[in-house]
Amino acid sequence: MPLDEKGGSPANGSAPGTVSIGGRAYKVVDHVYDVVVVGAGGAGLRATFGIAAKGLKTACISKVFPTRSHTVAAQGGISAALGNMGADDWRWHMYDTVKGSDWLGDQDAIEYMCREAIPAIIELEHYGVPFSRTPAGKIYQRPFGGMTTEFGKGIAQRTCAAADRTGHAILHTLYQQSLKHHAEFFIEYFALDLIMDEGVCRGVMAWNLDDGTIHRFRAHMVVLATGGYGRAYFSATSAHTCTGDGGAMALRAGLPVQDMEFIQFHPTGIYGAGCLITEGVRGEGGYVTNSSGERFMERYAPSAKDLASRDVVSRSMTIEIREGRGCGPNKDYIELHIEHLEPKVIHERLPGIAETARIFAGVDVTKQPIPIVPTCHYNMGGIPTNFRCEVVTVKHGDPNQVVPGLMAIGEAACVSVHGANRLGSNSLLDLVVFGRSAAIRAAEVVQAGAAHKSLPNAGEDAIARLDKARHANGGTGTAQLRLEMQRAMQSDCAVFRTQQSLDEGCKRLDKVFGGKTDIRVKDRSLIWNSDLVETLEFENLVLQAQATVRSAANRTESRGAHAREDFPERDDKNWLKHTVIWVDEKGGTKIDYRPVKLQPMSNDVQSFPPKARVY
Ligand SMILES: Cc1cc2nc3c(=O)[nH]c(=O)nc-3n(C[C@H](O)[C@H](O)[C@H](O)COP(=O)(O)OP(=O)(O)OC[C@H]3O[C@@H](n4cnc5c(N)ncnc54)[C@H](O)[C@@H]3O)c2cc1C
Repeated sequence: MPLDEKGGSPANGSAPGTVSIGGRAYKVVDHVYDVVVVGAGGAGLRATFGIAAKGLKTACISKVFPTRSHTVAAQGGISAALGNMGADDWRWHMYDTVKGSDWLGDQDAIEYMCREAIPAIIELEHYGVPFSRTPAGKIYQRPFGGMTTEFGKGIAQRTCAAADRTGHAILHTLYQQSLKHHAEFFIEYFALDLIMDEGVCRGVMAWNLDDGTIHRFRAHMVVLATGGYGRAYFSATSAHTCTGDGGAMALRAGLPVQDMEFIQFHPTGIYGAGCLITEGVRGEGGYVTNSSGERFMERYAPSAKDLASRDVVSRSMTIEIREGRGCGPNKDYIELHIEHLEPKVIHERLPGIAETARIFAGVDVTKQPIPIVPTCHYNMGGIPTNFRCEVVTVKHGDPNQVVPGLMAIGEAACVSVHGANRLGSNSLLDLVVFGRSAAIRAAEVVQAGAAHKSLPNAGEDAIARLDKARHANGGTGTAQLRLEMQRAMQSDCAVFRTQQSLDEGCKRLDKVFGGKTDIRVKDRSLIWNSDLVETLEFENLVLQAQATVRSAANRTESRGAHAREDFPERDDKNWLKHTVIWVDEKGGTKIDYRPVKLQPMSNDVQSFPPKARVY
């Protein structure tokens, strides 16, 4: 698979195999592949082995060891209308997903996902995922919020589970399959930027964290599977590695991201660490208080109190904090009490919680309350794609213009099957269905072994950006700026939003962007330089934080997870459309829209038109 011309020949006069930036030489190693997948979570691995199995030379780049990707933390399960534990139908699943998306999801993609869910799960079973079983030996399925039968009439048992470690089971199986199909892995390589040429993606640049070399990957297709950007918030359930690197690479390539205002929150994440404390705690009699010890949920939800829905509890907690009744020195958390419960109840029914609270909050739950905050759980927004996973942009009035050579899948993408809110267990499904779809499409458009266009200077911008960050010599540490961004997002762009809070958030983020010119990186090395990695990750996060807060300030309605106190109603007349937003390096933004696809893919279902809000 040769380049037309030797790809590594430097055009800037430096020694062969090196690129010189500011007098500093960077060793550049060239690679040629048919397809390069960035990310080795559930989405990336499903695509990687699917593409490799189709005979394309495939590489997978990951900044962490594949089985350490955030997918490993998913517990609850993966949805599919298998009907193993009662009647089910993929059309019911589709209806639930459209409704859960508050009619912002694209119905062709949702039909594709719910229909393909069934063969995709059977396939996973055959690949070796150790699903839990019914007594009859079928895949065990549990009920999950929002999953119904007969278009909302009954409760569906649709969520397939491998005990309480479904993500772990799936990720390990997919990694084994990738090795079996001889995909080549570049592990602990940090992808920096896409190689773009006249609007076409032609590869990706990466930094080998272990030896400091720079790698130029040429490919006919790059698949971004880099996960979410939960770490833009102070409190997130996602791993520290979820920094939205793929979304930022797309933005830097002049492409937009979509529906970034839609963020799913969970009310009871541990303050600081963000780890989830299950709703079961409140089910067992736990309750929340503010700084004066008041059980404030009695004011917001007089009958349901602490057992009100996730959204209501999250919103009430946020109001308490915003109005100065939060706990602790910074008045920025709420307390969750279970110390009044019998130790026996805690020991028998909540042992995991007691352990999590001890490790991550340092509290003994039999004696002290747990500090909690509403916590960022999932990003519905991301890089816009069609159901074939091809990245799309708005260009010359065409809202579905395909970007050649680029795909996006998983939480990094916005395909959009989750629309304005995601149903539990639909994300793991999204990973495997669209990972598979990407493999099918890549095999259609990429010709194995085709020659690559000669681009002698490719990727030098990315090296220059790395060099600039590496030698940043200002007065502000990355951690300090990151904290400012995270606090702004947590207080001004969380579960409860008003024009005032969002405008304040915009101002605070503009200040963070201003602060970027004064950033300081102390470690100048290229080997295991976590200071530099965190700086690059911060640069990625802040672009997406800006996209989120600007899109939220722009959308003057409430829909799904975007709850505007000042615009409490859904407004289909003006807002039944996707937001797309471009963000430049200085934080400047441009907003446009894409229509929602309200037509499903086939005649097997009628489209589901927006109906009155039912809560
Ligand atoms: C605690 C928790 C529980 C959850 N439970 C469920 C559940 O029960 N059911 C469900 O459906 N969903 C659940 N979700 C959501 C779901 O798990 C995630 O949305 C999904 O796993 C994301 O998968 P992904 O493949 O897109 O990305 P990830 O699994 O986050 O993987 C991202 C990959 O990209 C790589 N990467 C990122 N940036 C770079 C870079 N610059 N260079 C190189 N590599 C890079 C990383 O190394 C990693 O391999 C849960 C989420 C959390 C946080």
